[in-house]
Amino acid sequence: MGKLDVVMLRYLSAEDFRVLTAIEMGMKNHELVPAMLAAQIANLKHGGVSKILRELSKHKLVSYERYDYLALKVLSTREVLSSFGNQIGVGKESNIYVVADKDDKPLCLKLHRLGRTCFRNIKGKRDYHQNRKSMSWLYLSRISATREFAYMKALQDRGFPVPKPIDFNRHCVVMELVNGYPLCTISEIENPDELYDELMNLIVRFGNHGVIHGDFNEFNIMVTDKGKPIIIDFPQMVSTEHLNAEYFFDRDVNCVRSFFKRKFGYESELYPSFKDICREGCIDAEVKASGLTRQMEKDLLVEMGQIDEDEDSDDDDDDDDDDESNEEKPLDSITEIKLLRNQVNESVAKDLNEKINILSDNDVN
Ligand code: ADP
Ligand code: MG
Repeated sequence: MGKLDVVMLRYLSAEDFRVLTAIEMGMKNHELVPAMLAAQIANLKHGGVSKILRELSKHKLVSYERYDYLALKVLSTREVLSSFGNQIGVGKESNIYVVADKDDKPLCLKLHRLGRTCFRNIKGKRDYHQNRKSMSWLYLSRISATREFAYMKALQDRGFPVPKPIDFNRHCVVMELVNGYPLCTISEIENPDELYDELMNLIVRFGNHGVIHGDFNEFNIMVTDKGKPIIIDFPQMVSTEHLNAEYFFDRDVNCVRSFFKRKFGYESELYPSFKDICREGCIDAEVKASGLTRQMEKDLLVEMGQIDEDEDSDDDDDDDDDDESNEEKPLDSITEIKLLRNQVNESVAKDLNEKINILSDNDVN
């Protein structure tokens, strides 16, 4: 696909939506869902599906881009966005678009794209996937989006200069469109010392609230016309309680120092150290309340290279259960298909703001 086909979004029927949701549910057990299984879970009685299924069986598998439409359909049902503009960025782990809400106000849409490069390029990745249940890109991208939204919200509430978070669904986040340019594209500024100080203060203020950005570089710092920084890109943020917190803190500081030296020839003896943090809040706890389990956060941070797979993170008291026993069972019994069908019903109803239709035993065969 590459580019988002807006026309397709418009014609995404209720039944297409249902089939895609069924595949999504199937992905809890299968990284790639066979068309037959999808058909079983979707359990559509009426015609019109055959086209989708033919399409699916033609390709045998379903690629991740289809979920863009699912998420975008939900966001447009909620009237968060109503039109599409250009792609404005391709990040390391995302595609960024300009979209607009129903009043034509431009907004920024970030489609998270994690786990695309697995099995290649990255050392040790193969073993990792063999040893764990395989993690689908959708699983990781959802965690990434959920985390990003939660941090952005918590930071915004505390007056940090970040884009205003608007809404998210699945792996898609909608936020305020920053009126400015990434620092990496700026070759001259009037007062580098002022911006430098401001950025260092931000790093410390993050720390005072219990968090470290973790990727505080010239690509994730936007600068407005007035020369003010706005920080973006939060999925990889880590707690100041993290084992390697000091390392992450220093790395963020050094990113700024070396960039200012390289680009603006500006050097300062003044830069913060981890000990300068004095705690006044705890954003981390708030983000943990966003529904992500510790295992999910760990899976994401390992994927992003922030932590090692066998690293034990900070507080090890609560063990989390994210229904894994349930998810790992093969989908072979009628009961399980029924369960998944009901999950599909619930999910579709919630997404499209419709009444839930719970199946009775007789409905499954
Ligand atoms: P990634 O996690 O893939 O690095 P980012 O969130 O850093 O994604 O976004 C990638 C690029 O998209 C940024 O460098 C910036 O140019 C642009 N961008 C991201 N968010 C916004 C926004 N809210 N407003 C304007 N441009 C943005
Ligand atoms: Mg980035």
